[in-house]
Amino acid sequence: MARIVMKFGGTSVGDCDRIKNVARRVKSEFDRGNEVIVVLSAMSGVTNQLVDYCKQIAPLHDAREYDVVVSTGEQVTIGLLAMALHELGVPARSWVGWQVPVRTDGAHGKARIESIGTEALTQCMADGQVAVVAGFQGIGPEDRVTTLGRGGSDTSAVALAAALKADRCDIYTDVDGVYTTDPRIVAKARKLDKITYEEMLELASLGAKVLQTRSVEMAMKYRVRVQVLSSFVEAPGTLVCDEDEIVEKELVSGIAYSRDEAKITLVKVDDQPGVAAAIFGPLTDANINVDMIVQNVSEDGTHTDLTFTVAKSDLERAIKVLTEKTDLKYGRLVPDSNVVKISVIGMGMRSHAGVAQKMFKTLADKSINILLISTSEIKVSVLISDDYTELALRALHSAYGLDTK
Ligand code: ADP
Ligand code: ASP
Ligand code: MG
Repeated sequence: MARIVMKFGGTSVGDCDRIKNVARRVKSEFDRGNEVIVVLSAMSGVTNQLVDYCKQIAPLHDAREYDVVVSTGEQVTIGLLAMALHELGVPARSWVGWQVPVRTDGAHGKARIESIGTEALTQCMADGQVAVVAGFQGIGPEDRVTTLGRGGSDTSAVALAAALKADRCDIYTDVDGVYTTDPRIVAKARKLDKITYEEMLELASLGAKVLQTRSVEMAMKYRVRVQVLSSFVEAPGTLVCDEDEIVEKELVSGIAYSRDEAKITLVKVDDQPGVAAAIFGPLTDANINVDMIVQNVSEDGTHTDLTFTVAKSDLERAIKVLTEKTDLKYGRLVPDSNVVKISVIGMGMRSHAGVAQKMFKTLADKSINILLISTSEIKVSVLISDDYTELALRALHSAYGLDTK
């Protein structure tokens, strides 16, 4: 007997037939004698709709009430799945976040899980029932409902797997595993049998939304065996695991893209000590994260241009902060949200040179202009115009030999 967490995403529970399909998948694990905890997302599109309602009522709404609204989609699916399981003769009970409880900090809209009570769910399983838990939600310091950020059900699943010491955490979704890049954009993307926690973490944080970044951080920290697989096709998926479990190591294992970036250039900034601190300080105070940064060499020794990126959703606020701050001396502020960040990721980069050069050459051959570059130990990222996203992804995928044969 094993203890298994099975998480199903929005498309997998998108309508009643799909929920019945999920019930059958759960039943087959249950019938094998396993203890099963199911974690569900809302039906696809529902959370977007709820977010949209909040924006319509009040663009700058209270984050606590936002969480009350956007967490409701998951309550619908867990109740429906419990009923569908009953129809198949499987004892099951649903649990929203506070009932578990999944305790979080008070950062509404992007709360972090702090602890999980295991007693109630352990008892539920001991009583021979499947526990069906609402993903994406928890309960904060003042007993208010919180949510974990978009895509947060993945994190709920991994956190429950860690807390309940599950043998496996299976993430069922609308693709049959983790691919070398988004298979919806590059038809020749290849499914990976295994990927290291480190590479998956980079892929996720650089835009591949197949797993929420925090879920990978948590899996890595608690060594949870996470498998990504299809809820529609019965086939082995991709195992996220330790580096030493992977025999054949690739130089580059994946390519990610993120359209969630916007570029700001401050033209003619004074070229003197303390200027960067004066610009980025107020952005930090406003809780705006800055990602890529480039400061040009000044031509005349007195002025320079400073370019950096922020999340697209923070662009308006960043412009407001920078224009309202009167003591910043610059000529013009030029925003650009028509950009995409493309990143090449691979453990092999630690020991092999030339990966970045191949990226620059491939993009140059396609006449794609690079706006910004950043690198770290196992990735190289470039910012380019969004118009070239697909062209760049396909060209790079071939250049690194990742295409399916
Ligand atoms: P769910 O609703 O099941 O949580 P998501 O939409 O959050 O599903 O994540 C699955 C999607 O992630 C896929 O449909 C795919 O388009 C996208 N994706 C992006 N990069 C990758 C990748 N490298 N491998 C697999 N899927 C990817
Ligand atoms: N329903 C939530 C969202 O759409 C959580 C999730 O799907 O993981 O972001
Ligand atoms: Mg998701």
